[in-house]
Amino acid sequence: MGKYKVVKCPQCGFAEVTAASKSVRCFGCGRIWQLKSEMILFSSEEIEKVQGFLKKLKQCGEVEYRRAAEMFSKDP
Ligand SMILES: [Zn+2]
Repeated sequence: MGKYKVVKCPQCGFAEVTAASKSVRCFGCGRIWQLKSEMILFSSEEIEKVQGFLKKLKQCGEVEYRRAAEMFSKDP
């Protein structure tokens, strides 16, 4: 697992980038929740890749994150 992660809040569904490994504070609803592997949509050691994924995720809509992951992996 990479250092930086795109995670999704289990309460409100807000997606954000975090470097946390245990608990994440949601910028959407303010809740602090425990990080679990199934809430990690994408991870990398490189913050640029993680931010790039989040950007595509927001463009595609959160329900389409798997497709966004595919698109991202095809980038040069
Ligand atoms: Zn939230």
